[in-house]
Parts: sequence; C-alpha cells; structure tokens
Amino acid sequence: MNSPQKLPTQVIRQDVQSMHAYAIQDSKGMIKLDAMENPHRLPLDLQAKLGQRLGALALNRYPDNRVNDLRHALAAYADMPEGFDVMLGNGSDELISLLALACDVPPSVDNGFKVANVLAPVPGFVMYAMSAQLQGLAFHGVPLTADFELDEAAMLAAIEEHRPSITYLAYPNNPTANLWNDEVIEKIIEAVGQQGGLVVMDEAYQPFSSKSYIDRISRHSHVLLMRTLSKFGLAGIRLGYMMGPKALIAEIDKVRPPYNISVLNCECALFALEHQDVFAKQATELRTQRAQLLTALAHMSGVQVYPSDANMILVRVPDAQKTFDGMKIRHVLIKNVSKMHPLLANCLRLTVGTAEENQLMLTALQESL
Ligand SMILES: *Cc1c(COP(=O)(O)O)cnc(C)c1O
Repeated sequence: MNSPQKLPTQVIRQDVQSMHAYAIQDSKGMIKLDAMENPHRLPLDLQAKLGQRLGALALNRYPDNRVNDLRHALAAYADMPEGFDVMLGNGSDELISLLALACDVPPSVDNGFKVANVLAPVPGFVMYAMSAQLQGLAFHGVPLTADFELDEAAMLAAIEEHRPSITYLAYPNNPTANLWNDEVIEKIIEAVGQQGGLVVMDEAYQPFSSKSYIDRISRHSHVLLMRTLSKFGLAGIRLGYMMGPKALIAEIDKVRPPYNISVLNCECALFALEHQDVFAKQATELRTQRAQLLTALAHMSGVQVYPSDANMILVRVPDAQKTFDGMKIRHVLIKNVSKMHPLLANCLRLTVGTAEENQLMLTALQESL
C-alpha cells in the first residue's frame, strides 16, 4: 500500500492559498433577496418554446457564428452607436477578468518598472479588486463620501498619482445602489483620458436605472460600456457584454477564450431578446416594487434608507448582524454588507423581489431590528 500522498498545494500561489473562495450563501427554503436576481421566471409558454429550441441545438459542435447574431441583437437592444463594437463574456465577471489580462503590461524601463493600476471608488463591486489582484495589477480603491457620492478631489488626485490603466465606474453602484453626479463623472473621464487610460462604465443595473451612459459614450474614445443580462432576468445563463470603439474592442477581444459563450447561453440570450417585452414588463414591475419598498422603509423607525436606481436597496440599521440573523431565522436571506467597508457600517443590502416577497421581507426586517 502506498502511504497517503501529500497534495502539491505548494505549487499554488501563496496569495491564492490565503484567499477565501467567493462565498455563495445557502438559500434552500429561503426567500432569496441577497443577489439582485430578478424574482420572475419565464412564463410557461415561453419555457416550453425555449426548451424546444435548446433541445434542437447541435450540442456536438463548438459554438459557431450564431454568437455574431447575438452580438448584433445586443447592439440593437442597447442602441449602440455607429463605429462601436460589442464583445461577449461569460457574465461581466469574465469581461472584468479579461480586461485585467489585456491590460497587464509587464513592468519595464518604459513604465518605471511599475505594474499597471486599476482604480475604482469603494465600496464598490468586489470583482474589480479581485480581478486586479489575481492578474498582478495594483488596485486602488478611492473612498466615496459619507453619502456615497464620488469624492471628486480624491478621485482626480488618485488618477494623477496612479495613472490607472482601468478606472471602473458602476452606474448605478453596487452595493450603494445610487447613480453618481454626472459632472464629476465627466471630469473623471477627462482626467483618465489625459493619462491615456480606459474608463469602464459598468451598467449592470441598467434595466432599473433612470439614466444610462450609452448616449454619451461616443463622445470619448477611451470609454467602454459594460452590461449584463444577469440583473435583467437571466443570472443563470451567464452573459455579459461590453461596447466600445471598434478598434479598442478588437484588441481586448484577442484575449477572450474563443468559445466562452456556450451554444446554450447564446440561444437563451437570443430568445430573451426576441421576447424583451416580457423582461421590460418585469423591470417595470420591479421599479414599482422598489418605489413601494423605499416608501415603506422610509417610514420604518430605526432604518435609514438610501436612494436607489437599481433592483436593490441599501439600508442602515442599529445592529446589522443582529438584524441579518433575525431575518435569516425568519427565512429571509439578504446580504450583510456591513463588514465590506467602514462607510457601510451596519448596512444591509436588500434585493427587490415580488410584492409578496417584499412584504415578508419588510415584516422580517421590522421584527429583527
Ligand atoms: C452583478 C454585477 C456584475 C456581474 O454580473 P455578471 O454578468 O453576473 O457576472 C457586474 N457589475 C456589477 C456592478 C454588478 O453588481
């Protein structure tokens, strides 16, 4: 008998060994309001139609030019301007990783032996920092102001100091759910442009937002606009897309694995865009639900509620852990973001669900304060 073998974990990077795996909360039997998912499924007739279509696909073949049909459908859906192109990712998470990969210019005499930098306001979406760290780029988080607005002076100073290759602006931001001041955004975009960097406007929450950057994107040659079908209603299929000037997208697209969008993802996405009115109705309903939730939360004593342009609402409570635990016992799963950043002390993030779910959530919250 061989002695038990020692696993060769020493070949794994030390920083990876000290990392925690991305935690997905167990949601069995819970009202799931933790991940900004659309609570609505496809209507039954569309489920049957989609099933037929997926069943008939050539799963024995690698994905083919059908992905180009999807690229064109997404461009039309998003009103992408002339001269721009769209690149697809297995969720925007993959696009964020691919951007880090594409911008990971090795240290050399020319850049003063420094690694490339990624900059983003914090608290923000965790993947910006994580993709940078894993790819060996330096991440610089610039704190928002106490009311979660961009700190203009701090952002401009950080751009000057770090000359970031990539600056992320989530519009609206996660987990704070707000849009930022457009004049400040313009100044940041100008400043990054002068340093020769890229700005990525991350519009993951576009279906719920009162504003988009799409009608301003063609004014700049260094701004990319990223979106996803996840919050739109298809978190399960994993499809993100990024739009930008043709020549720029062509460069970044070179690092994309050639078959990153499966034939199933692709066909599901095309099917959804053919029935985009169904999803638009769901988004309208969720915006109505959001308005009702905002009103109810504003009247709940002990709860401070922040404005939202997304399908989530950030609240501050007296004791976030206690409230989170209390809601969990009552089978309502939300996200405790209170440890993510000092600015989020005692904050919880609530995803907007159906009318019934929201009612149960409000009751559980009230009882758990
Ligand atoms: C959810 C989210 C994404 C990731 O979306 P996927 O397409 O599901 O990978 C990107 N950016 C922000 C700000 C998000 O909140």
